[in-house]
Amino acid sequence: MIDPEEASAQAEDGFRRMWAELLPVGRHGGSGGYRRHAWTAADAECRAWFEEQARTRGLAYEVDGNGNQWAWSGDPAAGGAVVTGSHLDSVPDGGAFDGPLGVVSAFAALDLLREHDATGSRPLGIVNFGDEEGARFGVACVGSRLMTGVLDPGRARALTDDGGVTLATAVERAGRDPSALGRDEERLSRIAAFVELHVEQGRNLGDAPIGVASAIWPHGRWRFDFRGQANHAGTTRMEDRRDPMPAFAAAVLDAQERARRAGALATFGKVAVEPNGTNAIASRVTAWLDSRAADPGVLDALVAEITRASGAEVTRESYTPVVDFDGPLRDRLAGLLGGAPVLPTGAGHDAGILASAIPTAMLFVRNPTGVSHSPEEHAERADCLAGVAALARVLEDLLADPVREGPARR
Ligand SMILES: [Zn+2]
Repeated sequence: MIDPEEASAQAEDGFRRMWAELLPVGRHGGSGGYRRHAWTAADAECRAWFEEQARTRGLAYEVDGNGNQWAWSGDPAAGGAVVTGSHLDSVPDGGAFDGPLGVVSAFAALDLLREHDATGSRPLGIVNFGDEEGARFGVACVGSRLMTGVLDPGRARALTDDGGVTLATAVERAGRDPSALGRDEERLSRIAAFVELHVEQGRNLGDAPIGVASAIWPHGRWRFDFRGQANHAGTTRMEDRRDPMPAFAAAVLDAQERARRAGALATFGKVAVEPNGTNAIASRVTAWLDSRAADPGVLDALVAEITRASGAEVTRESYTPVVDFDGPLRDRLAGLLGGAPVLPTGAGHDAGILASAIPTAMLFVRNPTGVSHSPEEHAERADCLAGVAALARVLEDLLADPVREGPARR
Protein backbone atom coordinates (compact mmCIF):
# COMPACT_ATOMS: atom_id res chain seq x y z
CA MET A 1 0.00 0.00 0.00
CA ILE A 2 1.28 3.45 -0.89
CA ASP A 3 2.38 5.35 2.18
CA PRO A 4 1.52 9.06 1.81
CA GLU A 5 4.62 10.46 3.47
CA GLU A 6 7.07 8.23 1.66
CA ALA A 7 5.24 8.79 -1.64
CA SER A 8 5.40 12.60 -1.30
CA ALA A 9 9.18 12.43 -1.08
CA GLN A 10 9.40 9.96 -3.97
CA ALA A 11 7.29 12.17 -6.23
CA GLU A 12 9.30 15.34 -5.66
CA ASP A 13 11.89 15.16 -8.46
CA GLY A 14 9.42 14.13 -11.15
CA PHE A 15 6.92 16.75 -10.10
CA ARG A 16 9.55 19.49 -10.07
CA ARG A 17 10.78 18.55 -13.54
CA MET A 18 7.31 18.50 -15.12
CA TRP A 19 6.29 21.72 -13.36
CA ALA A 20 9.40 23.51 -14.62
CA GLU A 21 8.72 22.35 -18.20
CA LEU A 22 5.18 23.74 -18.22
CA LEU A 23 5.86 26.93 -16.27
CA PRO A 24 7.00 29.17 -19.17
CA VAL A 25 4.36 27.98 -21.68
CA GLY A 26 1.83 30.70 -22.51
CA ARG A 27 3.00 33.00 -19.73
CA HIS A 28 2.52 36.69 -20.48
CA GLY A 29 5.63 38.75 -19.76
CA GLY A 30 3.72 41.79 -18.57
CA SER A 31 1.08 40.31 -16.28
CA GLY A 32 2.90 37.13 -15.27
CA GLY A 33 -0.39 35.30 -15.89
CA TYR A 34 -1.19 32.53 -18.36
CA ARG A 35 -2.94 32.94 -21.71
CA ARG A 36 -3.37 29.34 -22.76
CA HIS A 37 -6.63 29.71 -24.66
CA ALA A 38 -8.11 26.79 -26.55
CA TRP A 39 -6.62 25.99 -29.94
CA THR A 40 -3.97 28.75 -29.81
CA ALA A 41 -0.20 28.35 -30.14
CA ALA A 42 0.21 28.23 -26.33
CA ASP A 43 -2.45 25.53 -26.11
CA ALA A 44 -0.67 23.55 -28.84
CA GLU A 45 2.55 23.75 -26.82
CA CYS A 46 0.78 22.43 -23.73
CA ARG A 47 -0.71 19.63 -25.79
CA ALA A 48 2.69 18.74 -27.26
CA TRP A 49 4.01 18.53 -23.70
CA PHE A 50 1.19 16.12 -22.77
CA GLU A 51 1.93 13.92 -25.77
CA GLU A 52 5.61 13.87 -24.88
CA GLN A 53 4.79 12.79 -21.31
CA ALA A 54 2.73 9.93 -22.71
CA ARG A 55 5.44 8.86 -25.18
CA THR A 56 8.34 8.97 -22.73
CA ARG A 57 6.38 6.69 -20.37
CA GLY A 58 5.47 4.27 -23.17
CA LEU A 59 1.76 5.04 -22.74
CA ALA A 60 -0.72 4.60 -25.60
CA TYR A 61 -1.54 8.12 -26.80
CA GLU A 62 -4.73 9.21 -28.53
CA VAL A 63 -6.84 12.31 -29.19
CA ASP A 64 -10.59 11.74 -29.23
CA GLY A 65 -13.04 13.31 -31.70
CA ASN A 66 -13.63 16.19 -29.29
CA GLY A 67 -9.96 17.11 -29.01
CA ASN A 68 -9.40 15.64 -25.54
CA GLN A 69 -5.98 14.02 -25.12
CA TRP A 70 -5.61 10.59 -23.52
CA ALA A 71 -2.61 8.61 -22.30
CA TRP A 72 -3.23 4.97 -21.39
CA SER A 73 -1.43 2.45 -19.25
CA GLY A 74 -2.98 -0.84 -20.32
CA ASP A 75 -5.53 -1.36 -23.10
CA PRO A 76 -8.51 1.03 -22.83
CA ALA A 77 -10.63 -1.35 -24.95
CA ALA A 78 -10.54 -3.82 -22.03
CA GLY A 79 -13.05 -1.56 -20.21
CA GLY A 80 -13.47 -0.91 -16.49
CA ALA A 81 -10.82 1.80 -16.70
CA VAL A 82 -9.87 4.24 -13.96
CA VAL A 83 -9.17 7.73 -15.33
CA THR A 84 -7.63 10.84 -13.81
CA GLY A 85 -6.62 14.22 -15.22
CA SER A 86 -7.78 17.81 -15.66
CA HIS A 87 -7.09 20.57 -18.19
CA LEU A 88 -4.12 22.62 -19.42
CA ASP A 89 -5.89 25.70 -20.83
CA SER A 90 -6.35 28.89 -18.80
CA VAL A 91 -8.54 31.94 -18.25
CA PRO A 92 -7.05 35.29 -19.41
CA ASP A 93 -4.03 35.89 -17.15
CA GLY A 94 -4.80 32.80 -15.11
CA GLY A 95 -2.59 31.09 -12.56
CA ALA A 96 -0.18 28.20 -12.98
CA PHE A 97 -2.14 25.68 -10.89
CA ASP A 98 -5.74 25.74 -12.15
CA GLY A 99 -5.78 22.67 -14.40
CA PRO A 100 -2.09 21.84 -14.85
CA LEU A 101 -1.81 20.74 -11.20
CA GLY A 102 -4.27 17.92 -11.95
CA VAL A 103 -2.49 16.82 -15.14
CA VAL A 104 1.04 16.97 -13.70
CA SER A 105 -0.16 15.16 -10.55
CA ALA A 106 -1.76 12.46 -12.72
CA PHE A 107 1.56 11.65 -14.44
CA ALA A 108 3.42 11.86 -11.12
CA ALA A 109 0.88 9.51 -9.50
CA LEU A 110 1.26 7.03 -12.35
CA ASP A 111 5.04 7.11 -11.83
CA LEU A 112 4.49 6.32 -8.14
CA LEU A 113 2.14 3.45 -8.94
CA ARG A 114 4.75 2.02 -11.28
CA GLU A 115 7.50 2.36 -8.67
CA HIS A 116 5.27 0.48 -6.24
CA ASP A 117 4.28 -2.06 -8.89
CA ALA A 118 0.67 -1.09 -8.19
CA THR A 119 -0.79 -0.32 -11.61
CA GLY A 120 -2.78 -3.58 -11.44
CA SER A 121 -4.32 -5.23 -14.48
CA ARG A 122 -6.98 -2.65 -15.23
CA PRO A 123 -6.45 0.22 -17.73
CA LEU A 124 -5.45 3.55 -16.19
CA GLY A 125 -6.04 6.67 -18.27
CA ILE A 126 -4.72 10.22 -17.98
CA VAL A 127 -6.77 12.89 -19.72
CA ASN A 128 -6.31 16.53 -20.72
CA PHE A 129 -9.78 17.91 -21.43
CA GLY A 130 -9.82 20.53 -24.20
CA ASP A 131 -11.14 24.07 -23.70
CA GLU A 132 -12.17 23.78 -20.03
CA GLU A 133 -12.15 27.47 -19.19
CA GLY A 134 -14.17 28.65 -22.17
CA ALA A 135 -11.98 31.77 -22.28
CA ARG A 136 -12.02 31.97 -26.06
CA PHE A 137 -15.50 30.82 -27.12
CA GLY A 138 -17.51 31.68 -24.00
CA VAL A 139 -18.67 28.16 -23.05
CA ALA A 140 -16.78 26.32 -20.31
CA CYS A 141 -15.87 22.60 -20.29
CA VAL A 142 -16.35 22.22 -24.06
CA GLY A 143 -14.31 18.98 -24.31
CA SER A 144 -16.16 17.17 -21.52
CA ARG A 145 -19.57 18.64 -22.46
CA LEU A 146 -19.17 17.38 -26.03
CA MET A 147 -17.96 13.98 -24.85
CA THR A 148 -20.99 13.50 -22.59
CA GLY A 149 -23.43 15.03 -25.09
CA VAL A 150 -24.34 17.94 -22.80
CA LEU A 151 -23.25 20.38 -25.53
CA ASP A 152 -24.73 20.02 -29.00
CA PRO A 153 -21.90 19.66 -31.57
CA GLY A 154 -23.63 21.98 -34.03
CA ARG A 155 -23.89 24.69 -31.39
CA ALA A 156 -20.25 24.13 -30.41
CA ARG A 157 -19.00 24.46 -34.00
CA ALA A 158 -20.82 27.81 -34.35
CA LEU A 159 -19.33 29.36 -31.18
CA THR A 160 -17.26 32.41 -32.12
CA ASP A 161 -14.27 34.11 -30.50
CA ASP A 162 -13.72 37.89 -30.21
CA GLY A 163 -11.96 37.90 -33.59
CA GLY A 164 -14.92 36.29 -35.37
CA VAL A 165 -13.24 32.86 -35.69
CA THR A 166 -15.64 29.97 -35.15
CA LEU A 167 -14.74 27.00 -32.98
CA ALA A 168 -15.06 24.79 -36.08
CA THR A 169 -12.43 26.88 -37.88
CA ALA A 170 -10.14 26.98 -34.84
CA VAL A 171 -10.33 23.19 -34.49
CA GLU A 172 -9.64 22.76 -38.20
CA ARG A 173 -6.64 25.11 -38.09
CA ALA A 174 -5.29 22.97 -35.25
CA GLY A 175 -5.38 20.01 -37.63
CA ARG A 176 -8.53 18.39 -36.22
CA ASP A 177 -11.81 17.44 -37.88
CA PRO A 178 -14.70 19.55 -36.53
CA SER A 179 -17.28 17.07 -37.90
CA ALA A 180 -16.00 14.51 -35.36
CA LEU A 181 -17.37 16.48 -32.38
CA GLY A 182 -20.13 14.83 -30.34
CA ARG A 183 -21.08 12.36 -27.61
CA ASP A 184 -18.50 9.60 -27.29
CA GLU A 185 -20.48 6.57 -26.17
CA GLU A 186 -17.68 4.11 -26.67
CA ARG A 187 -15.14 6.00 -24.59
CA LEU A 188 -17.61 6.70 -21.80
CA SER A 189 -18.57 3.02 -21.57
CA ARG A 190 -14.94 2.05 -20.99
CA ILE A 191 -14.51 4.18 -17.87
CA ALA A 192 -15.46 2.84 -14.44
CA ALA A 193 -14.44 5.88 -12.43
CA PHE A 194 -12.99 9.36 -12.95
CA VAL A 195 -11.05 11.36 -10.36
CA GLU A 196 -9.95 14.96 -10.96
CA LEU A 197 -7.37 16.60 -8.70
CA HIS A 198 -7.61 20.41 -8.65
CA VAL A 199 -6.34 23.39 -6.68
CA GLU A 200 -9.14 24.36 -4.28
CA GLN A 201 -9.70 27.97 -5.46
CA GLY A 202 -10.94 28.97 -2.05
CA ARG A 203 -9.80 28.96 1.56
CA ASN A 204 -12.09 26.31 2.98
CA LEU A 205 -9.51 23.57 3.60
CA GLY A 206 -7.89 25.39 6.52
CA ASP A 207 -5.42 23.06 8.23
CA ALA A 208 -5.89 20.18 5.79
CA PRO A 209 -3.67 19.99 2.68
CA ILE A 210 -6.15 17.74 0.81
CA GLY A 211 -9.94 17.59 0.66
CA VAL A 212 -12.64 15.69 -1.20
CA ALA A 213 -15.43 17.44 -3.13
CA SER A 214 -19.04 16.87 -2.10
CA ALA A 215 -20.82 19.01 -4.67
CA ILE A 216 -20.53 21.86 -7.15
CA TRP A 217 -22.89 24.75 -6.55
CA PRO A 218 -25.39 25.56 -9.27
CA HIS A 219 -24.16 28.58 -11.22
CA GLY A 220 -24.93 30.68 -14.24
CA ARG A 221 -24.19 33.78 -16.33
CA TRP A 222 -26.72 36.50 -17.09
CA ARG A 223 -26.35 39.45 -19.46
CA PHE A 224 -27.75 42.79 -18.23
CA ASP A 225 -28.51 45.47 -20.84
CA PHE A 226 -28.94 49.00 -19.48
CA ARG A 227 -30.12 51.40 -22.18
CA GLY A 228 -29.81 55.19 -22.32
CA GLN A 229 -29.03 57.93 -24.80
CA ALA A 230 -25.58 58.98 -25.97
CA ASN A 231 -24.93 62.68 -25.49
CA HIS A 232 -22.26 65.30 -24.85
CA ALA A 233 -20.71 65.16 -21.39
CA GLY A 234 -19.97 68.90 -21.48
CA THR A 235 -23.24 70.37 -22.74
CA THR A 236 -26.01 68.08 -21.45
CA ARG A 237 -27.54 69.30 -18.19
CA MET A 238 -27.59 66.69 -15.43
CA GLU A 239 -31.39 66.69 -15.35
CA ASP A 240 -31.62 66.14 -19.12
CA ARG A 241 -29.51 63.01 -19.24
CA ARG A 242 -30.55 59.45 -19.92
CA ASP A 243 -27.36 57.89 -18.58
CA PRO A 244 -27.46 54.08 -18.04
CA MET A 245 -24.27 54.11 -15.96
CA PRO A 246 -25.85 54.99 -12.58
CA ALA A 247 -28.39 52.15 -12.95
CA PHE A 248 -25.53 49.76 -13.69
CA ALA A 249 -23.53 51.02 -10.69
CA ALA A 250 -26.59 50.64 -8.44
CA ALA A 251 -27.11 47.08 -9.73
CA VAL A 252 -23.51 46.13 -8.83
CA LEU A 253 -23.94 47.37 -5.25
CA ASP A 254 -27.41 45.84 -4.98
CA ALA A 255 -26.18 42.44 -6.21
CA GLN A 256 -23.35 42.45 -3.67
CA GLU A 257 -25.65 43.30 -0.79
CA ARG A 258 -28.32 40.74 -1.73
CA ALA A 259 -25.75 37.97 -2.30
CA ARG A 260 -24.17 38.67 1.10
CA ARG A 261 -27.56 38.46 2.81
CA ALA A 262 -28.42 35.21 0.97
CA GLY A 263 -25.08 33.52 1.70
CA ALA A 264 -24.56 33.32 -2.06
CA LEU A 265 -22.16 34.85 -4.62
CA ALA A 266 -22.84 37.53 -7.22
CA THR A 267 -20.19 39.13 -9.44
CA PHE A 268 -20.29 41.65 -12.24
CA GLY A 269 -16.83 40.96 -13.69
CA LYS A 270 -17.28 41.97 -17.32
CA VAL A 271 -18.76 45.15 -18.71
CA ALA A 272 -19.03 46.76 -22.15
CA VAL A 273 -19.92 50.43 -22.61
CA GLU A 274 -21.14 52.15 -25.79
CA PRO A 275 -19.77 54.38 -27.13
CA ASN A 276 -17.12 54.09 -24.37
CA GLY A 277 -15.85 57.66 -24.60
CA THR A 278 -14.58 59.73 -21.67
CA ASN A 279 -16.54 62.79 -22.79
CA ALA A 280 -19.70 60.96 -23.88
CA ILE A 281 -22.71 59.88 -21.86
CA ALA A 282 -23.14 56.17 -22.52
CA SER A 283 -25.96 54.97 -24.77
CA ARG A 284 -25.75 51.49 -23.43
CA VAL A 285 -24.03 49.48 -20.68
CA THR A 286 -23.91 45.72 -21.03
CA ALA A 287 -22.70 43.81 -17.99
CA TRP A 288 -22.47 40.13 -17.16
CA LEU A 289 -23.54 38.72 -13.80
CA ASP A 290 -22.01 35.48 -12.55
CA SER A 291 -24.00 34.11 -9.64
CA ARG A 292 -23.72 30.94 -7.56
CA ALA A 293 -25.32 29.48 -4.43
CA ALA A 294 -25.41 26.16 -2.60
CA ASP A 295 -29.16 25.88 -3.13
CA PRO A 296 -30.78 26.25 -6.60
CA GLY A 297 -33.86 27.93 -5.07
CA VAL A 298 -31.70 30.54 -3.35
CA LEU A 299 -29.84 31.20 -6.60
CA ASP A 300 -33.06 31.58 -8.63
CA ALA A 301 -34.58 33.95 -6.08
CA LEU A 302 -31.39 36.01 -5.83
CA VAL A 303 -31.04 36.51 -9.59
CA ALA A 304 -34.76 37.33 -9.88
CA GLU A 305 -34.41 40.02 -7.19
CA ILE A 306 -31.27 41.52 -8.76
CA THR A 307 -33.02 41.52 -12.16
CA ARG A 308 -36.15 43.23 -10.83
CA ALA A 309 -34.23 45.89 -8.91
CA SER A 310 -31.90 46.67 -11.82
CA GLY A 311 -34.53 47.70 -14.37
CA ALA A 312 -32.28 46.17 -17.04
CA GLU A 313 -33.21 43.79 -19.82
CA VAL A 314 -31.76 40.46 -18.63
CA THR A 315 -30.85 37.37 -20.68
CA ARG A 316 -29.69 34.09 -19.14
CA GLU A 317 -26.66 32.97 -21.20
CA SER A 318 -25.76 29.78 -19.37
CA TYR A 319 -26.84 27.74 -16.37
CA THR A 320 -25.26 24.69 -14.76
CA PRO A 321 -27.40 22.80 -12.24
CA VAL A 322 -26.08 21.56 -8.91
CA VAL A 323 -23.71 18.56 -9.13
CA ASP A 324 -23.64 16.07 -6.28
CA PHE A 325 -20.63 13.80 -6.64
CA ASP A 326 -21.10 10.03 -6.29
CA GLY A 327 -21.73 9.51 -2.56
CA PRO A 328 -20.12 6.10 -2.01
CA LEU A 329 -17.05 7.09 -4.05
CA ARG A 330 -16.71 10.40 -2.17
CA ASP A 331 -16.92 8.65 1.22
CA ARG A 332 -14.50 5.98 0.09
CA LEU A 333 -11.92 8.61 -0.93
CA ALA A 334 -12.31 10.56 2.31
CA GLY A 335 -11.77 7.31 4.24
CA LEU A 336 -8.71 6.34 2.20
CA LEU A 337 -7.19 9.74 2.95
CA GLY A 338 -7.57 9.37 6.70
CA GLY A 339 -10.79 11.32 7.06
CA ALA A 340 -9.96 14.18 4.70
CA PRO A 341 -12.48 17.03 4.85
CA VAL A 342 -15.42 16.85 2.43
CA LEU A 343 -16.49 20.22 1.04
CA PRO A 344 -18.53 21.80 -1.76
CA THR A 345 -17.17 24.30 -4.28
CA GLY A 346 -18.56 27.19 -6.29
CA ALA A 347 -16.23 26.52 -9.23
CA GLY A 348 -17.20 24.48 -12.29
CA HIS A 349 -14.99 21.58 -13.45
CA ASP A 350 -14.86 18.83 -16.09
CA ALA A 351 -15.51 16.42 -13.20
CA GLY A 352 -18.86 18.14 -12.69
CA ILE A 353 -19.78 17.42 -16.30
CA LEU A 354 -18.56 13.81 -16.22
CA ALA A 355 -20.48 13.16 -13.00
CA SER A 356 -23.67 12.90 -15.08
CA ALA A 357 -22.27 9.89 -16.97
CA ILE A 358 -19.62 8.19 -14.81
CA PRO A 359 -18.99 7.76 -11.04
CA THR A 360 -16.80 10.79 -10.45
CA ALA A 361 -14.85 12.31 -7.57
CA MET A 362 -12.60 15.30 -6.98
CA LEU A 363 -9.61 15.92 -4.75
CA PHE A 364 -8.75 19.49 -3.74
CA VAL A 365 -5.26 20.72 -2.90
CA ARG A 366 -5.06 23.58 -0.41
CA ASN A 367 -4.91 27.10 -1.85
CA PRO A 368 -3.64 29.11 1.14
CA THR A 369 -4.57 32.57 -0.13
CA GLY A 370 -7.76 31.41 -1.86
CA VAL A 371 -6.71 33.49 -4.89
CA SER A 372 -7.37 31.82 -8.24
CA HIS A 373 -7.94 32.86 -11.87
CA SER A 374 -5.09 35.28 -11.22
CA PRO A 375 -1.29 35.28 -11.65
CA GLU A 376 -1.12 35.21 -7.82
CA GLU A 377 -2.73 31.78 -7.60
CA HIS A 378 -0.52 29.57 -5.45
CA ALA A 379 -0.21 26.22 -3.72
CA GLU A 380 2.72 25.16 -1.54
CA ARG A 381 4.98 22.51 -3.04
CA ALA A 382 4.53 20.26 0.00
CA ASP A 383 0.75 20.38 -0.46
CA CYS A 384 1.10 19.60 -4.18
CA LEU A 385 3.23 16.57 -3.34
CA ALA A 386 0.70 15.49 -0.69
CA GLY A 387 -1.87 15.75 -3.48
CA VAL A 388 0.18 13.46 -5.75
CA ALA A 389 0.53 10.91 -2.94
CA ALA A 390 -3.20 11.10 -2.15
CA LEU A 391 -4.10 10.67 -5.82
CA ALA A 392 -1.76 7.67 -6.12
CA ARG A 393 -3.31 6.09 -3.02
CA VAL A 394 -6.81 6.61 -4.41
CA LEU A 395 -5.90 5.26 -7.86
CA GLU A 396 -4.18 2.23 -6.32
CA ASP A 397 -7.37 1.43 -4.44
CA LEU A 398 -9.69 2.03 -7.40
CA LEU A 399 -7.50 -0.03 -9.73
CA ALA A 400 -7.68 -2.97 -7.33
CA ASP A 401 -11.45 -2.71 -6.96
CA PRO A 402 -13.25 -0.05 -8.98
CA VAL A 403 -16.60 1.35 -8.11
CA ARG A 404 -18.46 -0.71 -10.63
CA GLU A 405 -18.11 -2.92 -13.71
CA GLY A 406 -19.97 -2.94 -17.00
CA PRO A 407 -21.54 -0.22 -19.12
CA ALA A 408 -21.70 3.41 -18.06
CA ARG A 409 -24.72 4.66 -16.12
CA ARG A 410 -27.04 6.89 -18.09
ZN1 LIG B 1 -9.73 24.35 -13.60
